[in-house]
Amino acid sequence: MKSVCVFLGSSDGNHPAYARATAELGRELAQRRITCVYGGSRTGLMKILADSVLGEGGEVVGVTVQLLKDKEEFHRGLTRLHVVSTMHERKNLMIELSDAFLALPGGIGTLDELFEVCTLSQLGFHAKPCGLLNVNGFFEPLRAMLVTAEREGFMKRPMHDALDVALDPAGLLDMLQRRIPSLT
Ligand code: AMP
Repeated sequence: MKSVCVFLGSSDGNHPAYARATAELGRELAQRRITCVYGGSRTGLMKILADSVLGEGGEVVGVTVQLLKDKEEFHRGLTRLHVVSTMHERKNLMIELSDAFLALPGGIGTLDELFEVCTLSQLGFHAKPCGLLNVNGFFEPLRAMLVTAEREGFMKRPMHDALDVALDPAGLLDMLQRRIPSLT
């Protein structure tokens, strides 16, 4: 596993555990020499992640859109910054550049990206694994919703097949890595 795309809040969240887990993930990615792909922002958990990877000597690739770049909403210290025209192109490039995906706590943007990646996987457009870092039980309501969808017969495959879930970054990266042994 050479690169992981991380979807996460452009805000900090209300609890210090979010920033702590984000920084820990950044260190873990850098130590494993896994390139971090993310949205390129300089705010919230997104900034904390990029700073943590870079601080540990790792590589961070940002993928942003011209509109956000024009508003100066991008991190200036990244290893590389891709700038595309539309949000659609942006998501496609993030998917192309990454071997796996993981979501941390965040809002609408994070959830949108997570579900797009899962939907494309379910339809067979890619076969890359996806995981949730369940900091502070943040994703419990989402898991409950997916369990309901499964129980009611709306899931194409069991939730545990579609998404790995872990409480700590190292454990989650191990789980994702096991799903793509050919790239280890
Ligand atoms: P949210 O969870 O609503 O804060 O949105 C965060 C997600 O949306 C991130 O994973 C980003 O990919 C994207 N996003 C939100 N704000 C920005 C921004 N200023 N620059 C780049 N991407 C952003």
